[in-house]
Amino acid sequence: MSDLTRTTAAQLADALAAGETTSVEVTQAHLDRIGEVDGAIHAFLHVDAEGALAQAAASDARRAAGRPASGLDGVPIAVKDILATQGLPTTCGSKILEGWIPPYDATVVARLKAAGLPILGKTNMDEFAMGSSTEHSAYGPTHNPWDLDRIPGGSGGGSAAAVAAFEAPLALGTDTGGSIRQPGAVTGTVGVKPTYGSISRYGLVALANSLDQVGPVTRTVLDAALLHELIGGHDPRDSTSITQPVPDLTDAVRLGATGDLTGVRIGVVKELNGSGYQDGVRQRFQESVDLMVDAGATLVEVSCPMFVHALAAYYLILPAEASSNLAKFDAMRYGLRVLPEDIADPSAEDVMRASRDAGFGDEVKRRIILGTYALSSGYYDAYYGQAQKVRTLISRDFDAAFEQADVLLSPTAPTTAFKLGEKLDDPIAMYLNDLATIPANLSGVPGISVPGGLAEEDGLPVGIQILAPTMADDRVYRVGSALETLLTDRWGGPLLDRAPALKGAPA
Ligand code: GLN
Repeated sequence: MSDLTRTTAAQLADALAAGETTSVEVTQAHLDRIGEVDGAIHAFLHVDAEGALAQAAASDARRAAGRPASGLDGVPIAVKDILATQGLPTTCGSKILEGWIPPYDATVVARLKAAGLPILGKTNMDEFAMGSSTEHSAYGPTHNPWDLDRIPGGSGGGSAAAVAAFEAPLALGTDTGGSIRQPGAVTGTVGVKPTYGSISRYGLVALANSLDQVGPVTRTVLDAALLHELIGGHDPRDSTSITQPVPDLTDAVRLGATGDLTGVRIGVVKELNGSGYQDGVRQRFQESVDLMVDAGATLVEVSCPMFVHALAAYYLILPAEASSNLAKFDAMRYGLRVLPEDIADPSAEDVMRASRDAGFGDEVKRRIILGTYALSSGYYDAYYGQAQKVRTLISRDFDAAFEQADVLLSPTAPTTAFKLGEKLDDPIAMYLNDLATIPANLSGVPGISVPGGLAEEDGLPVGIQILAPTMADDRVYRVGSALETLLTDRWGGPLLDRAPALKGAPA
């Protein structure tokens, strides 16, 4: 086969099944690519060449014996560093977890291993998944493969950049407010946030338990479906895991791949398309809507008036949950322990204070302060309680919208990738990136970001978001696949073939 790193996961799986290549060859090709470009991109915090090649050799042995563990057996994958991996560092992009080696695997990681996917390494992220640019990583930012001076989105910028730069055919991300979909949008990759509760959170280091969801990061909608089917389904170790089986997603992709959308009602959300969105983003979005209508879809304009309060509600609920979750990093149980130099006989509290001061970055501290404030007695009802009420109203907006439309459409992110450093000192500007992605997390509905072409003014990728009702993940895939077909025709090939920085491999 020609270039194994330019091949989709589905094609790699076919080639492995046909005996045209081996998992060791495929895995080595990706490790070589990581060696070539990751110095410039910094998608990975940890590369496990030895482990990945051992898993690849085991996969080849299974294939040779005619007993592959799954359809994707032997296809390598990268994993966001917020998921526990037995024997491999898991830092959540934070100094406070530097050197922590989990003694167990997250359920999704265990499922990858059982299915035979070699794990290439752990990907960079904003500290504890707080951010939209990966600049809040304690280990330095990830660079966008389209333009190394720009952000790859966040918090899962490492996973998205690894896939966009052909360092991995597949990756796992987590999406609490958009951290799979927004990096997908700004790197020209596909990102899916599944229905809340449909993928196990066991072993996912919690940011905000009521919002977090694991999901696929890929280059095609079909690859996302294959990965999603593999990691999804009930897990008794996660008390919020739902029992319904994951719908047939690959079938939905095949149905959508014809590009026919006859009878599908697409709702354009008035509140997610207007002021605050870059012109080039709006143009690409309008083009996608037009293509879908030409392909038979019926266009409905829907209004979700409560969505304008989503950002404010999210930035109370998330810090509240996060402040409680982060209390466990107390220098006693895991990771970093700092002894204060100026205290002769420090108490446990002194050690905790010094460790948390040194171990947490500014954004994490900001949210801990915000969260504890919102939960404090006297303010609880005014802030946290009020935000929960808004959350309910947002879900009602979704219910009403889904009576009129089968799926809802919007741009995934208001702008294309901005310059590194541009918003770092302005938390509100950073939070505004999540405008369109947050409502789905607040209500639990599934969503996908599909590459929608390049913005005219800067030549950078734009993402189109498709949302569907809870448990209708198959609808997200069907419509996502149709849009992918229509846009591939429109652009004369996959979007990533046009990425300039990737052609001459960055030094
Ligand atoms: N930008 C969001 C935040 O900072 C994304 C969080 C996420 O999805 N992990 O909270």
